[in-house]
Amino acid sequence: MTQYDLVIKGGLAVLENGPVRADIFISGGKIKRVGRPDRGTCDASRVIDARGLVILPGLIDAHVHYSLHLGGGKMTADDFYSGSAAAACGGVTSVIDYTGQGPGVPLREGLKERIEEAEGLMHVDYGFHAIIPSWKKLSDPAGQIKELMAMGVSSFKFFMAYESRGLMASDAELFEALEASRLSGALVCVHAESGGIVDLLTERRRRERHPGADAHRLSRPDFTEWEAVGRALVLAGCTGGNIYFVHLSSGVSAGLIARARGIGVRALGETAPQYLLLKDSVFRRGDGHLYATCPPVRTPADSKALWAALSEGAVGVMATDNCTFTSKQKDEWGGDIGRLCMGLPGTQTLLPLIYTFGVKQGRMKLSGLARALSSNPAKVMGLYPRKGAIKPGSDADLAIIDPTASATVDFRKLQHKTDYSPYQGVKLYGWAKYTILRGEMIAEEGKLSKPDRPTGQFLRRKKSVMPEVVKRKTGIARKNK
Ligand SMILES: [Zn+2]
Repeated sequence: MTQYDLVIKGGLAVLENGPVRADIFISGGKIKRVGRPDRGTCDASRVIDARGLVILPGLIDAHVHYSLHLGGGKMTADDFYSGSAAAACGGVTSVIDYTGQGPGVPLREGLKERIEEAEGLMHVDYGFHAIIPSWKKLSDPAGQIKELMAMGVSSFKFFMAYESRGLMASDAELFEALEASRLSGALVCVHAESGGIVDLLTERRRRERHPGADAHRLSRPDFTEWEAVGRALVLAGCTGGNIYFVHLSSGVSAGLIARARGIGVRALGETAPQYLLLKDSVFRRGDGHLYATCPPVRTPADSKALWAALSEGAVGVMATDNCTFTSKQKDEWGGDIGRLCMGLPGTQTLLPLIYTFGVKQGRMKLSGLARALSSNPAKVMGLYPRKGAIKPGSDADLAIIDPTASATVDFRKLQHKTDYSPYQGVKLYGWAKYTILRGEMIAEEGKLSKPDRPTGQFLRRKKSVMPEVVKRKTGIARKNK
């Protein structure tokens, strides 16, 4: 019997203290040892010569929507199979999707439904955030949070918008949820938009028949995000709960979170590549509706502030909000922003986009990329140290890239089930050459290794750990009942 299942030799491994040349020894799905590079032979079933390659901890896309039910029998283009195939081929080894149960339905039922739906289809490991469409309609909501935490779900999603769809949490509901978070260690994930103002402005744009997708931008100006971020930060500070802002688009939001963290508020932001790389001028194009996301992409100044916040830590997580539609689905809006399908494909291009525009263009270092795409999401989502690190005892989840190789984005070559890419034709470096999940090769050179045998497992997550919060005794972070 050989001692190791897999040994990866001579690559530049991005460890927690930074990149170092190392040999990585794997058996039983775990990393057993990380050692100095050694020219000798080793006792292993498979050896990968990784000289010249960069080895990252497997990426965690903490915000995806695969097989998202849109009502009326409609669904997003990416299902659990294609979405997780895109993840595997993109160097992403874990994803976190959402439950979708209605108001008042016990959280455990929503979770069971999604686990059953995903069963056998996932190429990467996966978890779910529990959506809470209405706190007050749940019986014993704090008790249900504890119950879900025992079932491996430690993050709960609230909306500060979408009142007409029955999803909007009031300030009092958020306050109570954050109190429950402080007591349980759960993470409160917030979609921060001033729902009432967005509804008002959307209605105005519809009434004046504002042409094209630019009406989308004009109905959701940046202050509608940061007003909600500021309000939620106050609630988090007063309760001492853990708050996590999904898909941040505005530089002002990032600044507010940095200030709040500075006085001890347990807050963290997440952003997505579209907010760093796309400009709001896309909405003036004839096909601008293809780029519609919620919130919309904003100005280059916002992107610049978000890049800065990523390296400073207030925006600690890069995820994708992958929510794929075909151009046919997008075209069905017919010029009415009330009917716009909002979302973009994202998981497969996450790593090369951030490697190219972040690392290669000098906006972040390799260790910063590993933090934002792997260790921070692992910590805040309760997966660390099982996931998010290359070290003994961790799952052998790895994304290996050839830093000298480039390829042009072509939606036809990606696993996403759509007919366009917002980055079509862009030359990118840092595509995953090999993706390894628990010691097994799941994708190689953009192709699935085992298309007929998805091996992803449901992840039972633990309490959220807020990365690098400044700890101070004073400030607004205190118990307040
Ligand atoms: Zn989302």
